[in-house]
Amino acid sequence: MCTSFRNPVQCILPPYISNKFKKTKDVPLAESLDNDLRNYRFRSDRMFFSAMPKANMEMMLVSKAKPAKPRASIELYHVGHKYSLPGKRMKTTEIAKDKDAKNVLNGTKQTWNFYYSIFKRNSLDGDGLTLVNSIHYGKKYKNAMWNGRQMVFGDGDKKVFGSFTLDIDIIAHELAHGVTQYAANFDYENQPGALNESFSDVFGIMVKQFALKQNVEQSNWLIGENIMLGDSYALRSLAAPGTAFKDHPSWGDDPQPATMDKYLHFPNTEKGDWGGVHYNSGIPNFAFYTAAMEAGGFAWETVGKVWYAALTESLNNRSDFAEAKNATISQARKLFGQNSKVHKAVTRGWKAAKVK
Ligand SMILES: [Zn+2]
Repeated sequence: MCTSFRNPVQCILPPYISNKFKKTKDVPLAESLDNDLRNYRFRSDRMFFSAMPKANMEMMLVSKAKPAKPRASIELYHVGHKYSLPGKRMKTTEIAKDKDAKNVLNGTKQTWNFYYSIFKRNSLDGDGLTLVNSIHYGKKYKNAMWNGRQMVFGDGDKKVFGSFTLDIDIIAHELAHGVTQYAANFDYENQPGALNESFSDVFGIMVKQFALKQNVEQSNWLIGENIMLGDSYALRSLAAPGTAFKDHPSWGDDPQPATMDKYLHFPNTEKGDWGGVHYNSGIPNFAFYTAAMEAGGFAWETVGKVWYAALTESLNNRSDFAEAKNATISQARKLFGQNSKVHKAVTRGWKAAKVK
């Protein structure tokens, strides 16, 4: 029985979208069910790999001698629209001719650069882990995911979803699940699960801002604006959770709450999104956005440093929203000083999200 798993596979699409997808006549039901079954397999992969000692995991991945000056170690594989991972390793000449390969290569490089130049973190594990990416996974596969050891990207159905390689914030969101796995390792259920999702959105949006050199005023704070076809739709909004899409022909309105009084209580099952992890992540997302706007400038120079320190030093697998609030306020005080602009901004952020 699939009731509660500590570390289900982390897909970008929440059940409030993928479940409704099954009801649309565009998508053959058999394909959706097939995809679900595969997701179950990924979930067990995820549990297996996250429980594995790091030394064993590195042996199973392609390990390389560490260069004197750290640089990103990235590998790209073409799954050939089948389902066995990782697929066939792509040559440089093949990558140059494949838009999705170029998107993933660029997004993964930018993400590595972000963590290394801002936090001196060498890859997801802080120790130069090779970033393995498989593209063209399955037939019209509508998801992107971190399965505990590598990234997987589908092509989308080209009707509702474009390729899942189109947004750098989606690539960075999934890679952030990898960072979280080596840091707080939040359980993927209820409030720790919503924090897992939120930290991925927070680092996803910061990587996009970093790549585009955007300050907090210039950012649109949207996740997945390109993968969702249609100009007025995105997957999530950190600035205004609950407004990323409205009157969408398949999914209606964005259901994310922005504040704690609107917290959604769902069952801890796959159908219940493991207690609403993709819904309630809107609350800590809104706290981060508000804090970043209050602090001003580039988010990664202010509250981004605070969120990173909380993720890597203070929080653990069972942490809830109140602990995230206390940890970030305390890290802001430590890094920027009592009553500093950033310390006040972080306090105001959680107040705006009504987290007590
Ligand atoms: Zn996620």
